[in-house]
Amino acid sequence: MDHIRRVVVGFGANLGDRHQNIADALEALRADPDIHVTEQSPVYETEPEGGPEQGMYLNGAVLLLTAIEAADLLLRLQGIEAALGRTRDVKNGPRTIDLDILWIEGESIQTESLTVPHPRLGVRAFMLRPLLDVAEDARDSASGLVFSELPLAKVKLSRS
Ligand code: AMP
Repeated sequence: MDHIRRVVVGFGANLGDRHQNIADALEALRADPDIHVTEQSPVYETEPEGGPEQGMYLNGAVLLLTAIEAADLLLRLQGIEAALGRTRDVKNGPRTIDLDILWIEGESIQTESLTVPHPRLGVRAFMLRPLLDVAEDARDSASGLVFSELPLAKVKLSRS
């Protein structure tokens, strides 16, 4: 356990009952006694990017207050994905639920299993927009980059 700080977790779903999958994943997050979910972005409907031909995604993000370490949080998110029937057979393929760590206040991580801030924040509006919805002032602690100043921050997404 470390100190309590803000963490933003992004979610995405494009298989099955997408709204229900997101609701189930968020309920599992809320049930974790070490995690306090304090805000949720709108849910957006977005085009799949990369991977095989597949259906539209629902994407969004939640703001958490937690003291658990990043690697531990990733394991808990992967546990939720597994419990909701996520399989990983096709790279960038369709998924019941995808949970990603988008940003951790004051932390910059590059390990084999984890890169934070998420490396695709600058190129994926479906990650950046929800991040800014719940943490408008988020910045990259290593480079000082303020995410709201990225060109992609101006892209509008359609709400589901
Ligand atoms: P995906 O299949 O898109 O959910 O990618 C999952 C893989 O990305 C896992 O093996 C993680 O170890 C790795 N990964 C790297 N950085 C992150 C991050 N910030 N959040 C979630 N997964 C990450």
